[in-house]
Amino acid sequence: MQIPILERLFSSSLAQQLGPAFQRNARGVRLVAGGIVDKYHPLLVQIIPMRRCNLACTYCNEYDRTSDPVPLAMMLRRIDRLAELRSACVTISGGEPLLHPELDQILRRIRDHGMIAGLITNGFLLGKERIERLNDAGLEYLQISIDNVNPDKVSQKSLKTLNRKLSHLAEYARFHVNINSVVGSGMANPQDPVVIAKRAKELGFSTSVGVLHDEQGQLSPLSAEESAVFHEVVRIGQGIYTRINNFQENLIAGQPNDWHCRAGARYLYVCENGLVHYCSQQRGKPGTPLETYSQEDIRREFDSVKDCASLCTIGCVHRASALDELRPSRLLQIWSKGKSVSPSRSQVGSDGLRFGS
Ligand code: SF4
Ligand code: SF4
Repeated sequence: MQIPILERLFSSSLAQQLGPAFQRNARGVRLVAGGIVDKYHPLLVQIIPMRRCNLACTYCNEYDRTSDPVPLAMMLRRIDRLAELRSACVTISGGEPLLHPELDQILRRIRDHGMIAGLITNGFLLGKERIERLNDAGLEYLQISIDNVNPDKVSQKSLKTLNRKLSHLAEYARFHVNINSVVGSGMANPQDPVVIAKRAKELGFSTSVGVLHDEQGQLSPLSAEESAVFHEVVRIGQGIYTRINNFQENLIAGQPNDWHCRAGARYLYVCENGLVHYCSQQRGKPGTPLETYSQEDIRREFDSVKDCASLCTIGCVHRASALDELRPSRLLQIWSKGKSVSPSRSQVGSDGLRFGS
């Protein structure tokens, strides 16, 4: 099923990576618009400074209990290399990135290069002092995924365990906060995402919702109740970040999507060993060291066809890939507007493209 490009691009949880800075300031607009005018560089990179995690969610295949932090000098070299590749937005993830003792310096290096700095965390190590340090380091957006209302043996990432951390964020964070929840088979209480989204909205955060995937990032179909919950969470968000899009509608219905995954080009996943992979669920492909990853690699992967695409649920890669399907004339329009857009101004084009608040 074909999907209208702008609907795919500017709906749902664009806030998770590209959205907040894109919406808030001219720099974000310029970075993203520049990225889409020149297609052979990454728009979004997810980088892992340590694989270790302080939790052990039973569904997770992205953590261990023993690994050491990647040494700071090595992380800084990787950030410099991402800047050389002209990456627009770098999100630090894990494992649990707040366990890295020199995270603030890594964030500062991202900002020193003019790239957008983001963080995906389980939130357990956040307190007033840690949030203030993230403010000072120049963090621009943070995402926490909350899995349930009360902790259970599958996941401790619950509204109950995180409630105090969320209040601290609402009070002290100067960066954008997005709360992500997931809908899908196997959840003990299918209505939990609705409760989570309501609390996030109360605290002034944006919300997003994803569809649970299997170990290859592929779709597990939703029941009628789960589908209704998905729509309700989107309705609660009521922002450009949480409007449902056809990509998600197709996934809810168990339908394939017709899109070109640009992983390895527009989106890079850089693991703790410094290797570039398509995404967290397709590690090993291409598995090339970042230090030698080149324009040639980016050009090759921009055009390569991924056979896992049709039932893929990985929204951030989808959004980064969707930018390349905009019309050239529209790209130039965005580019020129980006040079003068005011943070408080809202612009709605004839095709529904919107930035500003
Ligand atoms: S907190 Fe995140 S990285 Fe850690 S085990 Fe849970 S899902 Fe995996
Ligand atoms: S389609 Fe792309 S993002 Fe999705 S699983 Fe495959 S490589 Fe990863």
